[in-house]
Amino acid sequence: MTPIPPEQSSLNPRRRAAVVVAHPDDETLWCGGYILAHPEFLWRIVTLCRAGDADRAPKFRQVLQRFGAEGEMAGLDDGPDQAPLPVELLEETVARLMAGHSYDLILTHGPLGEYTQHRRHAECCRAVVELWRSGCMFTDRLWMFAYQDGGRQYLPRVRSDADRRDVLPDDIWAEKRRLIMELYGFRPDSWEAQTTPREEGFWSFDSPQAAVKRLAPFEQQL
Ligand SMILES: [Zn+2]
Repeated sequence: MTPIPPEQSSLNPRRRAAVVVAHPDDETLWCGGYILAHPEFLWRIVTLCRAGDADRAPKFRQVLQRFGAEGEMAGLDDGPDQAPLPVELLEETVARLMAGHSYDLILTHGPLGEYTQHRRHAECCRAVVELWRSGCMFTDRLWMFAYQDGGRQYLPRVRSDADRRDVLPDDIWAEKRRLIMELYGFRPDSWEAQTTPREEGFWSFDSPQAAVKRLAPFEQQL
């Protein structure tokens, strides 16, 4: 009789976690340390934009490999004018990217994004929350990235009202920086390399109602 490895046992299935972000690199910048520190999850990492980006797309696939994650990119418009995208298109896209799985944990952007300001980050957050609220997406917990940049006064840092904050240990921090600089190829003096937070912060929700409530004060600020 062949023993079943623990992760294939129906009594102890490997837990699934997903990261839903606007762009390749957001997963590393805002929660790369957490992904690296938690290989026990079966990770799925998806992006709304840049499927057709000949530079960024192959780099994203390399990063997925390093994370031991599966993933996918969609090709939603990401033009410099940041024209709002139709809500239905955003929700359909996220729902498709989730690949029909239910998850133990999903991580996504905060309601205003992590810095001033990228509309796709905020749109991504709302689409994820609405899919969870309407029962079209299943997860036990949702975490939103909890960073702010004081209206561009400083590089993004963890908000004072974050529910969870993790200062990354040296080895995880070094690997996160390596992914940004070596795999994504950002120069040491780039905004991305300078930003790469050593402390990661999240808002944590165990019900869609709690997430919807958290979004309410931000609705006028988009
Ligand atoms: Zn982004």
